Amino acid sequence: MAYCITPYRSIVEVLRLSNKTGRRKIDYECNICKRTRILYVLQSLHHTVDEKGYVEYVDIHPCADDRLNANILYVDKNMVVRSQVPVRVGDDVSTQEISAMQIPVPKKVDFKIAKIEPEKSYKYKNLKSLSIVDRLRQTHFQLKEKGVGKMLKVTSELEFIDIEAKISKNIDIEIVEDWLKQLASILEAIVLLDEEMLSFMILYLDPKISEPPSGESIIELDMILHAKSSFPIASLKSYATFRRQWPKIQSERKGTDFESYEKLLTYCIGNQYKTLLDIFFKAESAMNFLHFIDMIEDMSMLGLINIRKTQFFTVDD
Ligand SMILES: [Zn+2]
Repeated sequence: MAYCITPYRSIVEVLRLSNKTGRRKIDYECNICKRTRILYVLQSLHHTVDEKGYVEYVDIHPCADDRLNANILYVDKNMVVRSQVPVRVGDDVSTQEISAMQIPVPKKVDFKIAKIEPEKSYKYKNLKSLSIVDRLRQTHFQLKEKGVGKMLKVTSELEFIDIEAKISKNIDIEIVEDWLKQLASILEAIVLLDEEMLSFMILYLDPKISEPPSGESIIELDMILHAKSSFPIASLKSYATFRRQWPKIQSERKGTDFESYEKLLTYCIGNQYKTLLDIFFKAESAMNFLHFIDMIEDMSMLGLINIRKTQFFTVDD
């Protein structure tokens, strides 16, 4: 068996090496805990957000005294961190104080307002309005209200995200609360949020929030919000496993077709630079986005695809 393992390893090593050259590295030392934090990001994800050409990233990590700290980073086009603004979490900083904080460079006075544009197929079935106050990105995301319903509000665990929603009268408010709390904690953990994905997120959420969230649906929600900054990766080995296990997969998941799964899996073999969304665009003619997410989630649960997120990690000296 050893001769099988060796060539597979060498492929992985080759991928790892070339990966380093394709991504740009951002590193900085946290002013509070003095740890070096590193992020590898595709150049294409590094979008300029203001006139100075800075891009904002959010790094939440266990900081000094093991307390969570969020650093809002302003990174220039050469991937140099020009400014870090710590936003500490905990009882000594109130929500009020965080929102009132002045950020020195670049100067931001007010929250930005960003519309969530619903997809054409969005039905306003259960979710009649949505408002997300995101203190990490200093942005207020809004889905325009349509229809009558009852209001509810949740706050994320670290209090960086407030979500307010109007939902149809006949659904259980506690169930929706669970969903929105999950959504808030996912948003709180995103290093680089792409606003466009919020439209897909509501499309996914709307028909589902009348039933309690399952583990699978939380993973899917997370995948949707990370679709532009995560990379689905498969190997030749996982392709072989897929072919071998297909009869079992098919019997457990009714209505699955071999060709679509196989196609997606082959797109992900040796993938280095294609985001989840890029892979979808490759397969687009065959399926809609939410169906695509469902299939990727299946393959990820089966261990055939590994989703690598764009996230910071600590380098221990
Ligand atoms: Zn720190």
